[in-house]
Amino acid sequence: MNPIVIVGSGMAGYTLAREFRKLDSTTPVVMISADDAVNYAKPTLSNALVGNKHPDQIGLGDPAKMSAQLNINILAHTTVDQVDCENHTLQLKQQNGEQTTQAYSKLILAVGANPIRLPIEGDGADDIHVVNSLADYRTFRDNLSLRTDKRVLLLGAGLIGCEFANDLKATGHDVTVVDIAPQPLGRLLPADTATAFQAGLEHIGVQFALNTTVQSIQRVASAQGHHDYAVQLTNGTSLVVDIVLSAIGLRPNLELAQAASIKTSRGIIVDALLQASQPDIYAIGDCAEVEGHLLPFVMPIMQQARALAKTLAGTATQVHYPAMPVAVKTPAAPLTVLPAPADVQVNWETEKLDDGMIAKAMDSAGTLRGFVLLGASAGKQRMALTKLVPDLLPLVSA
Ligand SMILES: Cc1cc2nc3c(=O)[nH]c(=O)nc-3n(C[C@H](O)[C@H](O)[C@H](O)COP(=O)(O)OP(=O)(O)OC[C@H]3O[C@@H](n4cnc5c(N)ncnc54)[C@H](O)[C@@H]3O)c2cc1C
Repeated sequence: MNPIVIVGSGMAGYTLAREFRKLDSTTPVVMISADDAVNYAKPTLSNALVGNKHPDQIGLGDPAKMSAQLNINILAHTTVDQVDCENHTLQLKQQNGEQTTQAYSKLILAVGANPIRLPIEGDGADDIHVVNSLADYRTFRDNLSLRTDKRVLLLGAGLIGCEFANDLKATGHDVTVVDIAPQPLGRLLPADTATAFQAGLEHIGVQFALNTTVQSIQRVASAQGHHDYAVQLTNGTSLVVDIVLSAIGLRPNLELAQAASIKTSRGIIVDALLQASQPDIYAIGDCAEVEGHLLPFVMPIMQQARALAKTLAGTATQVHYPAMPVAVKTPAAPLTVLPAPADVQVNWETEKLDDGMIAKAMDSAGTLRGFVLLGASAGKQRMALTKLVPDLLPLVSA
């Protein structure tokens, strides 16, 4: 029997393998990963500096350990170059360039998303860091540790950018966050809550340059033998920093699916069974657009993996999306966000508290569709408010 093949060793790939093995201990499973296939929790990367976590402490298991633990075959440093949907085979390329073929019974694409890069002028643009993997974090941390001036420019005041800003500031760095939007976490927060959130980060010394973006980055020689970077913003401001980190968002990795004529939109299009447009092919994690929802967060991955594991084990099971709030890791301004569905028109109802704010996203029928909780007191409302928000995808019994 051909194995079930999972492409990707991120949280989606490993969670699926673990959930499947709870239900089926014998069907062969092969995991193929372009990277080193070390299992790790990606969310820890944006608050690892303050915990002084070395990259080796973040890894939860190398392929040998994970393979033994889950009873699966893991091919690390192996890229899937092509999917032949008709013959149920994959074309693989190993690190040494050797090409092989892998047959599958069911194929799960858990190929994640790639950081978006802005077109920026100047010879320093190639040195911009992104942190979307443990390997990226290792490079970023190594480079950071070489710099004594500790001036960091963060491009992007979104969820992940603000988490890094808090982490970098808390570890003694000089942080300037640049964003084209007039406020941090642009689309997720109403203006008054965004202002209060920004004030929380400014209180610890994070600086914001909003309504502007980076035009150019030039390398300049520094006294310590490294390059510094002269950054020119479109609003006319210029500054010199040691490191530039970009966190302006991720784009689902669609090339493999598109080349195989698997339907895509913003992500790989899948139905509530997580099934793609070609037979026996599924998609989960950051690459998957599930019934029109693209939710690049941990909780949806857990829901997807549990449902798909049951389907692969023989009981077709639709994914259930309850309301899934996201806790933003900014201790200087504790924040929980439950975004309202993109296609629902909402009005914000805001309540000020002594130490923060509650903002409720109400639809035209007066139903709570999302919320923002800023500060410790507001955070205590999380459970009670979550229960009031309708499911995004209903629970359907198998
Ligand atoms: C810094 C940071 C902090 C975050 N914090 C939070 C948080 O606090 N809460 C939260 O809910 N979410 C958070 N997220 C989001 C969450 O971490 C992601 O949703 C999740 O990790 C995505 O996992 P994934 O397996 O879908 O993708 P990935 O982790 O990107 O894995 C993709 C895998 O596919 C492999 N691959 C890709 N193409 C190929 C190919 N052709 N052949 C073989 N292998 C291939 C890659 O090598 C990789 O192993 C955070 C994200 C980041 C970047």
